[in-house]
Amino acid sequence: MTIMKGLWLEDGALAFKDDLPYPEISGEEALIRVNLAGICATDLELLHGYYAYCGIPGHEFVGEVISAPANPALQGKRVVGEINIACGVCDYCMSGRRTHCVNRTVLGIRNRPGAFADYLSLPISNLYVVPEGLKDEIAVFCEPLAAALQIQEQIHVQPGDRVLLVGAGRLGILIAQTLALTGCDLIVLARYPQQQAILKSFKISVVDHNAIPDQSQDLVVEATGTAEGFTIANQAVRSGGTIVLKSTYKGNTTVNFSQLVVREIRLIGSRCGPFAPALRMLANGLVNPLPLIDSTMALEVGISAFERAAQSGVLKVMIKP
Ligand SMILES: [Zn+2]
Ligand SMILES: [Zn+2]
Repeated sequence: MTIMKGLWLEDGALAFKDDLPYPEISGEEALIRVNLAGICATDLELLHGYYAYCGIPGHEFVGEVISAPANPALQGKRVVGEINIACGVCDYCMSGRRTHCVNRTVLGIRNRPGAFADYLSLPISNLYVVPEGLKDEIAVFCEPLAAALQIQEQIHVQPGDRVLLVGAGRLGILIAQTLALTGCDLIVLARYPQQQAILKSFKISVVDHNAIPDQSQDLVVEATGTAEGFTIANQAVRSGGTIVLKSTYKGNTTVNFSQLVVREIRLIGSRCGPFAPALRMLANGLVNPLPLIDSTMALEVGISAFERAAQSGVLKVMIKP
């Protein structure tokens, strides 16, 4: 067997192929059969040129190890995997900031074939074994949940904090659940009735545009990746408060920087986060991602899956090879 099925992204166009090269693994890598993979906003942005990537997209996955020569005990185990493949020797790697490695490749995003295929490869050191009994449908959320938890890695959310989350999409609802666990006074600006219903089912307070508090929030998490979302964050945060940017922005965004200076607002960019705690939270049932699942589609109709995921208000679309 030397070819496999997968989605192929080239020049902003996505195609289904059944003759893609089978991943070749080096000594320290594992060959993984993909059980389930999720489409996220980054995948949709790749289609629109967020990063010039040519190859198999997809970075949120759960799969089964087919072979791992350097650690045969992993064979047959279900795993999730960190998406940044670091060089281990640059200044960032040496200082423990492996997700910022200057020589990194990124699964399905940068110089590394991704998860929308029958098989993928990753270094063994990137893998986390999924506890028995934790369903694929839940484990597949480990990567975006880890990204949500990066907020708590970067800042101390205190139980007494007033917190506004702007945006309740695929990532936003995971962020909301982790923030709620801190005990903070959380409100979420959610645009769509379905998002509002999911949040309410978790007993998380929802606000609409007319009820956003003015200059009063200790922390605002901006998870829309839009200029409008940033403007709302800027208006809602108290002077001396913090805005966390949790989403990438299409193109350039106009920002009122004077406001940020005069009101001494702290701005924090936030990307990939820790897998081990994310997996623990999923296994312990502290976060429930299941209400996020919109649909699960076969690899062969992956283009339809992307079209579905791109519709406004649609949450997580899964691809099952
Ligand atoms: Zn993602
Ligand atoms: Zn490095």
